[in-house]
Amino acid sequence: MDFTLTSEQQMAQKMFRDFATKEVAKVADQADKQEEVPARLLKRAAGQGFLAALAAEEPYGGAGLDFITYTLLMEALAAECASTALIVHVHNALTLRTFAKHGTAAAAAAHIPQMVTGERLGAFALTEADAGSDPTHLRTIARRDGAGYILDGAKTWVSNGGLAGLYLIFAATDPAAGARGLSAFVVPAETPGLRVGGREKTLGLRGAHIARLYLQGCRVPAENLLGAEGDGYRIALDALDAGRVGISAVALGVARGALERGVKYASERSQFGAPIGAKQAIQAYLADAATEIAAAEWLVRHAAWLADQAEGAQNGGKPFTQEAAIAKLFTSRMAAEVTNKMVQVHGGAGYIVDYPIERYYRDARALELVEGTSQIQQIVIAGGLLAGVGIKVKP
Ligand SMILES: Cc1cc2nc3c(=O)[nH]c(=O)nc-3n(C[C@H](O)[C@H](O)[C@H](O)COP(=O)(O)OP(=O)(O)OC[C@H]3O[C@@H](n4cnc5c(N)ncnc54)[C@H](O)[C@@H]3O)c2cc1C
Repeated sequence: MDFTLTSEQQMAQKMFRDFATKEVAKVADQADKQEEVPARLLKRAAGQGFLAALAAEEPYGGAGLDFITYTLLMEALAAECASTALIVHVHNALTLRTFAKHGTAAAAAAHIPQMVTGERLGAFALTEADAGSDPTHLRTIARRDGAGYILDGAKTWVSNGGLAGLYLIFAATDPAAGARGLSAFVVPAETPGLRVGGREKTLGLRGAHIARLYLQGCRVPAENLLGAEGDGYRIALDALDAGRVGISAVALGVARGALERGVKYASERSQFGAPIGAKQAIQAYLADAATEIAAAEWLVRHAAWLADQAEGAQNGGKPFTQEAAIAKLFTSRMAAEVTNKMVQVHGGAGYIVDYPIERYYRDARALELVEGTSQIQQIVIAGGLLAGVGIKVKP
């Protein structure tokens, strides 16, 4: 298997890194402290086509990026600002791709053009207060009413909540049927009865607009249903496979950004008459971090390559659920470990807000939780391993 980037991918990577170092880096601290990624940055990202990344060129005028190129985008953004990366990622991999793949032609024609230009950001609302790792028993209900559906309920942990112009909302159309009774709907933000509640005060990813969502008598036309009634769980899992590949690249970017800052600090800070980078203990931290990042990079490339095979084959390709879970489990832990090491390299300076490394440390911690905790990834991976020997893994 050859994962050498094509010349097109290399050019895209350079463009993404230039944008990240010129545009994203200068607002990353502000986004964290003011808990807001500046709207002008998202506009510039839209201008570069980043909010159209996972929409096809035809018929949507999207950028039509392959998954490998998409992971290069996530990595570049996250190396400077994980909140910005999360906003772009939730819009693209969880919402836009899912909507374009499973939505009706009428709903897609009505809303995707505005998502592609960035006029409408996307958000993905699966989690509820009582339905986190187990989203099979949602309390949000969608009932058929004439030519449409009426949604009632509440969602938690909605990244891009309040920023989004379009919500992908999972609800039970047949509550007694568990996973088989879930359905997915696109709900424009201006729909009467949809209200964005308070923002979560989070340890990290503070610019990512994580909010609650309330639905009260929220009516959508039947064309806003994705797939058929009862397809919601399958659609959520499909979205999360793609999402986990992207989140792995976010983890890779966070770790790479942290290592770059560790190397810089090791060259600038002197103790005992020499830069701390001359000490073997510090060199060991840097070397271990670089090794973990290199291993993570190949897991991300492999999962993205498999995702590209699956998409290219119009769903006929090999599923990449296992590899996406493996990449997510490894890279999110790796990012937490690498950022922890880089705090250590900074000494006390790593524990104050004057240096960006504490932000990397806080942001990395979330990646072991989002889009399925590490324990859920282990269940997915073990399920694949043990299926061959007749053991059904239950969560
Ligand atoms: C920063 C951030 C952004 C998020 N963005 C979104 C979003 O945009 N949209 C969305 O829908 N959700 C989002 N989420 C929610 C996220 O998907 C959930 O937090 C996650 O699925 C875990 O659910 P929970 O928090 O309810 O934890 P719980 O499910 O209550 O889990 C608590 C603990 O129990 C463990 N556990 C649970 N079940 C098992 C089991 N069977 N075996 C072993 N251990 C188990 C978990 O691993 C965890 O350690 C976000 C979360 C975070 C932190």
